[in-house]
Amino acid sequence: MRVTRIAYSTGLNVGKYAGLVEQARRLGRVRSEVWQRYGSIGGVGSGLKDRQVRDRWLADGTHMQFGVLANAWKETVRDAMGDIAANLASAKVEVSRAVGRRTSDPAERTRMLGVLKADRWAGDPFLARQMRKHWKRGRNRTHDQIVVRADQHNSVVDGSGRLWLAVPGLERRRMVRIPLPTTVAPTGTLRLILRGGRVEVHYQIDASQMRSSQRPCGDRTIGVDKGYTEALTDSDGGHHGTRLGQLLTAESDRLTERNHRRAKLRSIANNAAMRGDHAKAHRIRAHNLGTVKRDRQAARHRATVRTEIFTGVHRVVDKAATVIAEDLTRSFAGRKRLGKNVNRRLAAWTKGVTAEALANVSERRGSALVHVNAAYTSQTCHRCGRLGRRNGDRLHCTSCGVVWQADVNAAINILQRAGDPDIALHTPHRAVRQILQDRTDRHRTRLPVQDSSPAIAERRAKHPNRSATSNSRKQV
Ligand SMILES: [Zn+2]
Repeated sequence: MRVTRIAYSTGLNVGKYAGLVEQARRLGRVRSEVWQRYGSIGGVGSGLKDRQVRDRWLADGTHMQFGVLANAWKETVRDAMGDIAANLASAKVEVSRAVGRRTSDPAERTRMLGVLKADRWAGDPFLARQMRKHWKRGRNRTHDQIVVRADQHNSVVDGSGRLWLAVPGLERRRMVRIPLPTTVAPTGTLRLILRGGRVEVHYQIDASQMRSSQRPCGDRTIGVDKGYTEALTDSDGGHHGTRLGQLLTAESDRLTERNHRRAKLRSIANNAAMRGDHAKAHRIRAHNLGTVKRDRQAARHRATVRTEIFTGVHRVVDKAATVIAEDLTRSFAGRKRLGKNVNRRLAAWTKGVTAEALANVSERRGSALVHVNAAYTSQTCHRCGRLGRRNGDRLHCTSCGVVWQADVNAAINILQRAGDPDIALHTPHRAVRQILQDRTDRHRTRLPVQDSSPAIAERRAKHPNRSATSNSRKQV
């Protein structure tokens, strides 16, 4: 597994930066050309690979118009073809779902999926129609990136311990040296992103070399509930990533306040422009309504949140060999109350990061991640299975007469779902409710379950998950 690292340039000369921006702009035209020619149904029909595209452009002279070095446009073609492939792959996911709905005959399904995979769908009317429906024509929107192949850059450390990364410029043998505040040289293929007067150097490292990957995982099975106040609550009652809520609320408050001020400044600038005072309007727009600082602060905030979440996930994996978590793609909205000021978008993003961290850390440290259907796990009592009353962070079960901490109760329910014989990963939400209802009804009317003796039946109804087999497990 590989993880991305980013180094930011410091004190980069303005002239050098402008040169890189110009190079990225020209390479953006290369990307646009690739998307234009190969980013659609017709383009893929030709089944070209990036190497063939390069050969073709070299033969017909397409590359001459861009005014960049050969290695630069070739790497850009490869990168853009990769983007198109990813775009195509996501359309194919939709189409394979449609195939599943179209036929239940396994042989026919296999045939269609094979045709789809081999890019021969143009000859199959159903698949061609579905591909046209799901594969929207994309276009290039990237004009600020330069991809540098591993053998095209080098770095040296100067006398004062600063690292200088040298990358090709617009002219041959005229390298551009970028100062980086690190002693670890970026390796492999680099992606330079030019943003706000800085160069972001994105590169990948092998995750197995990271110190955190060497830490062994634990030996237990732990259920976790994802949240916003804390990133994770585990089935032991432990909370992890506990600063998450504060971070999100503080950022949200700050954004509200700042957007308010920016709106005021914008209106002052607009009024000035209307009065004819264009100098003042320009001054305000240039100095008070810029995006450089805003974007940097947003990036820093995202990094802080990610660190908090990843640290929390590491804590869980410290004790777990198997982590049971809700399946994010199936979770339904409104399951949990949001904090007062945490907006929905921010909350959704946070949950995505938590899911990513669970997958990433599990893979690196060798624990298993099992996704389960989380429907009703936050609303039912883990002891008796009845729907409880939620009050803030407490869940009140009138049947047991107990107040649970809602997150911990949910984490225990999630843990038990892993062995639930009736509720599988994709059991619809409504069916889950029915299953839970049936179990508690059975308990109330004391009906024996199947052929078991009454005593066992009652115990089963009381703890439906204890006797469960693990056949409904979905290993992810
Ligand atoms: Zn209960």
